[in-house]
Amino acid sequence: MITEKSLLMIPGPTPIPPQVAAAMTQPMINHRGEAFFSLFDEVSQGLRSLFRTEQPVYIFPGAGSGGWEAALVNTLSPGDTVLSVSVGDFGERWVKVARALGLTVERLVFEPGQAANPGRIAERLNADKARVIKAVLVQHNETSTGITNDVRTIAQVVREHGALLMVDSVSGLGALPLEFDAWGVDVALTGAQKALMCPPGLSMIAFSERARAASESSKMPRFYWDLKAVHSSYLKRQTPYTPAISLFYALQAALRMIQAETVEGAWARHRLMGAMCRAGVKAMGLSLLAADEAWASNSVTAVRSPIEPKKLRKTAREQLGVQLAGGQAELEASIFRIGHLGYVTPNDVIQALTATEMALALNGHPVELGAAVTAAQREWVRHLHG
Ligand code: PLP
Repeated sequence: MITEKSLLMIPGPTPIPPQVAAAMTQPMINHRGEAFFSLFDEVSQGLRSLFRTEQPVYIFPGAGSGGWEAALVNTLSPGDTVLSVSVGDFGERWVKVARALGLTVERLVFEPGQAANPGRIAERLNADKARVIKAVLVQHNETSTGITNDVRTIAQVVREHGALLMVDSVSGLGALPLEFDAWGVDVALTGAQKALMCPPGLSMIAFSERARAASESSKMPRFYWDLKAVHSSYLKRQTPYTPAISLFYALQAALRMIQAETVEGAWARHRLMGAMCRAGVKAMGLSLLAADEAWASNSVTAVRSPIEPKKLRKTAREQLGVQLAGGQAELEASIFRIGHLGYVTPNDVIQALTATEMALALNGHPVELGAAVTAAQREWVRHLHG
């Protein structure tokens, strides 16, 4: 067997297109010169259309987690209270960042497989008559559980209270609808290594006018993530420190691909892949972690595993050439995940389902070979018929 050809179906880092890989081999340029300014302009414009905002989108060299920190240090002061709305492991991790920065964290936790309930958020915010809660933190798409939150409704609820709404869209943006301006989001952040089809290493973040105003009075110590420095450089079409130039080139190539597909086209492709994946999983007789299919993510599907997930994934990886993801934290022994975001097509979903079904069979779990693929094909045909 050729072992190096392996299909990466994890929810990030995701496969990168050949154009993106090639773009990174371009020679270095002066980051204070005209060539960089036009690269900066194009990438900034592409990001604004992806975030659906007229606001600047700032680019930091960093992982998605840096975006969590940038959101908090630029808008809040030590001791401020934030409401964390958590539906999984990444929600929990953002809480750790907030606590490490000296914020007081109030928590609204939903069981794995549940989406955040906007009514419960409204209840908590309505009880906050003194307006102690300064910000609400929520995942757009909780990668660890394959759940998409209803950010649009959550935003309405938060607007009524007046707190800032901060949205982690690391595994959402580019794959799932997010309307930064129209929904009234205050801070949204993402990473390069998911739906944006780039290697890891860039964190992108948008701030509303309200969030930028809040940064004027924010007393959190900061330097690397400082919005003031980043914004004044932004106006000069630069970054305050040396940018990750190769990753800018990668992002330029990826954004051109998204522009050719259209943002709505990318959302539709992810919707189709999500539907195919769920149909296939159910046809295998397995169940989704999502308690209600309406909450199931179109960028990653979390599945309750009928056998030890590590065994299933090992067989898929080593014998069938497909890499699936495991569960995180308390879900490690009970679920596996199929990532279908970024440079991924319906054909890849078919392969992932084939491998999952075969891996179950090879591990002695009864399945009808081909059932998952047939179900996924039906979804695809239905989509093509319109
Ligand atoms: N938030 C979500 C929803 C994620 O899926 C991830 C990573 O998978 C992160 C934040 C953290 O991103 P990074 O690992 O790039 O720091």
